[in-house]
Amino acid sequence: MTVAYLGLGANLGDARQTLKDAVVCLAQQHTIAVLAKSSLYRTAPIDAGGDDYFNCVVKIDTTLTPHRLLALCQQIEHHFGRERPYRNAPRTLDIDILLFDEQSIEEPDLIVPHPRLTERAFVLVPLLEIDAALTIPQQGRADTFLAHVADQRIEKMKSPCQCPMLNALSANDAGEPADAANGASAKGRCS
Ligand code: ADP
Ligand code: MG
Repeated sequence: MTVAYLGLGANLGDARQTLKDAVVCLAQQHTIAVLAKSSLYRTAPIDAGGDDYFNCVVKIDTTLTPHRLLALCQQIEHHFGRERPYRNAPRTLDIDILLFDEQSIEEPDLIVPHPRLTERAFVLVPLLEIDAALTIPQQGRADTFLAHVADQRIEKMKSPCQCPMLNALSANDAGEPADAANGASAKGRCS
């Protein structure tokens, strides 16, 4: 198994919903386990026109080779209606391989670490949300590049789920009643 990071982005159609559905799609693959998912971020288009983007990053464990993972990402993009009328065109879904283990890959169709990883706030910020001490092969700590992208607009979306159930479950593990742990009934609190 290999740890990899994928960057997802969309700015056509119901972009926010597409990202959530795409993460579910990734998690349903028997070759992938989703280890972590960043928040959703709303970001300004860079080198492109069109609406604001929604972006997120997922950390996965996979049995796939880098090229098979790329092929899977492209299949999922296609499934969500991805078209490529011109470079940097608005897109229903983009899934890029940001990092694949400690590997450096330079092939005509696949470059890892992703060549624009350190130049894009919409990649760096969610990556660092997942792993604050992340290092990029041959480039060092990811957080040192944050200053370079400080002028790029990025806004973290508040999660619609304020569900207290995780706390309630861990409280139950400890043998305490869920209501007492949360100070209120756990029922009906998931918005
Ligand atoms: P964008 O560069 O805006 O993400 P596309 O998604 O259309 O544009 O990708 C263009 C090409 O980039 C793909 O055909 C793919 O072969 C190549 N590519 C190179 N490295 C990567 C990577 N790390 N992740 C995803 N695609 C990559
Ligand atoms: Mg892409």
